[in-house]
Amino acid sequence: MNPLPRHDHYIAGEWTAPVDGGYFTSVNPATAEPWYEAARGTAPDVDRAVRAARTAFEDPRWRDLSQTRRGRLLRNLGDLIGEHAERLARTETLDNGKLLREMRAQLAGLPEYFYYYAGLADKIQGEVIPGASRELLNYTLREPVGVVGAITPWNSPLLLTATKLAPALAAGNTVVVKPSEHTSASLLALAPLFEEAGFPPGVVNVVTGYGTEAGAPLTEHEAVAKVTFTGSSGTGRRIARTCADRLIGCTLELGGKSPNIIFPDADLGSAAMGVIAGIFAAAGQTCVAGSRVLVHREAYDEVLERVTTRAATIRVGDPLEETTELGPLALAEQLEKVESYVELGQAEGGKVVCGGRRPDTGLDGYFYSPTVFTGTDNGMRICQEEIFGPVATVMPFGSEEEALAIANDSAYGLAAGVWTRDVNRVHRMAARLEAGTVWTNTYRSMSPMSPRAGFKTSGMGTEHGTEVIREYTRLKSVWINTSEEPAGDPFILRS
Ligand code: NAD
Repeated sequence: MNPLPRHDHYIAGEWTAPVDGGYFTSVNPATAEPWYEAARGTAPDVDRAVRAARTAFEDPRWRDLSQTRRGRLLRNLGDLIGEHAERLARTETLDNGKLLREMRAQLAGLPEYFYYYAGLADKIQGEVIPGASRELLNYTLREPVGVVGAITPWNSPLLLTATKLAPALAAGNTVVVKPSEHTSASLLALAPLFEEAGFPPGVVNVVTGYGTEAGAPLTEHEAVAKVTFTGSSGTGRRIARTCADRLIGCTLELGGKSPNIIFPDADLGSAAMGVIAGIFAAAGQTCVAGSRVLVHREAYDEVLERVTTRAATIRVGDPLEETTELGPLALAEQLEKVESYVELGQAEGGKVVCGGRRPDTGLDGYFYSPTVFTGTDNGMRICQEEIFGPVATVMPFGSEEEALAIANDSAYGLAAGVWTRDVNRVHRMAARLEAGTVWTNTYRSMSPMSPRAGFKTSGMGTEHGTEVIREYTRLKSVWINTSEEPAGDPFILRS
C-alpha cells in the first residue's frame, strides 16, 4: 500500500517538520478511510510559528506597508482562491464530508471575504477628538494588536478561517492559524498562496494538531496578543479563561440551538423548505442549525407533513456525487453522539416520526438519516443541547408570546428564523428574539458585510462587517500640547 501523503506545518513561508516528529492521520468520513497525515503540533511548534509571526509583525515589509497596499495583497489572495476554488472545495469535501456542491458554492463566495476587507483596509483610521482647549491636540490611532492566534472547527474550514484572517490582516496583524485536527487539508493547500499573493513570509502561519496539544499552547503563548476562536461552547469557555488570565482579548463564535418559527400566515411550502435547509443542509453540522422547529398549532400538521415527506426522500450518500443531498457526519464520534441523542430523545418521551437510524448507502462512512422528533418539550435535553447533526424537534405553539418564550428558553442565542407575511410581527419578533442573527422568510443567509455575533453562550464579540475591525485593533490616544506658553501649575490636571 502507498504511504499516505504527509503534510508539515507552514511557518514563515516554509514547510516545517514538527519538532518532536509526530504526525496524525485524517479520515475521509464518506469512506472511513485515512487519506493523509498532518504534523501533530506541540508547544515548541507553536512557539516557532508565533515567533515567526512576531518577527513578521515587526518587519518593515509588513509593518510599513501602506494600508492600501495591504488591501491589494488581500485582493490578490481572493483572486488566487478563486483560481484554486475547485481543488480547495474537493479537499474540504474529502475532509469533512460536506456536499461538493455546497463546498463549491462556499469556495466560490470565499474571495468576497478578502475583497470586502481589501476595500476596508485603508479605511481603518483614528479620529481627532475635540479638546477642551485649543492648544491641546488629541487624536486616536487604531493600531493592529500584534500576533493573532486563530483556532477553527471542522464544519466550514476555509470559510471560518477567512472570517478571521481577512479582517486580522486588513488591520495589519500577523496570524497563526490552528485548524481543526479533522480538517487541516484545505488550509494546508491554501498556505503557499499567501506568499504568492505577496504577503511576506511569517505574516500567516499554520500549525496543525490537536486542541490540547497545539491549540492550548497557542492561546497561552506570551507573544499572542489576541485569540479568535470558532468551535464548541465548552472549548470557548476554556479559551476565555486562559485569555482572562493573560488579560488579552478573545472573540468567540460558539454553538447554537436555534429556533425556526413558523406562523400560520407564512407561505408554508417555503417555510417547510426553510426547515429542511435549516437542519438538514450540511447534515445539521452548522452552528446556526435550526434544530428547534416551532410551528403554530394551526399550521402544525401541514408543516410536519411537508417536512417529513421531504426529509424521507433526501438522498443520502457520497458527497462528491452531484445528486446527493446529505453527506456523512464528519467524524465517527459525531455519528455516535447523534445516535445517543436520538436514543435519549426517545427515552425522554419524544417520538421519532422520520429517520432515527443509519441509512443503507453502500458506503462505510458515518451516515445518518434525516430525523424528525415530535412530542418533545423544550425542557428536554434534546431541545436544550447542541446535537450538531440532522435531528429536528418539531414543537407546537399557540401565540406569539408563547413562541418567544420557547425560542428564548435556551442557553444559546446564535440565530433564529421567523416565517410570516406580517411585517409588524417581523419587527416585534426581531426585537425580542435573543439571537445574534434573525432571518425572516429565509434561513442560513450570510455575507461578509453582515455582522455575526452570538448572544448568551453562543459567543462573545463580532465577526464580519466593519465592526470586526475593533476586535483586531487597539485604540491609542495621542495628546500634543501646541501651546508656546510655559508649563503651568504641575499640581493641576490639564484638560
Ligand atoms: P471544538 O471546540 O471541539 O474544536 C474547535 C477547535 O478548537 C479545534 O481546532 C480544536 O482542535 C480546538 N481546541 C479544542 N480544545 C482546545 C483547547 N483546550 N484549547 C485550544 N483549542 C482547542 O469544536 P468542533 O467540534 O471542531 O466544532 C463544532 C462546534 O463549533 C459546534 O459547537 C458548532 O456550533 C461550533 N461552530 C460555531 C460557529 C459560529 O460561527 N458560531 C461556526 C461553526 C461551528
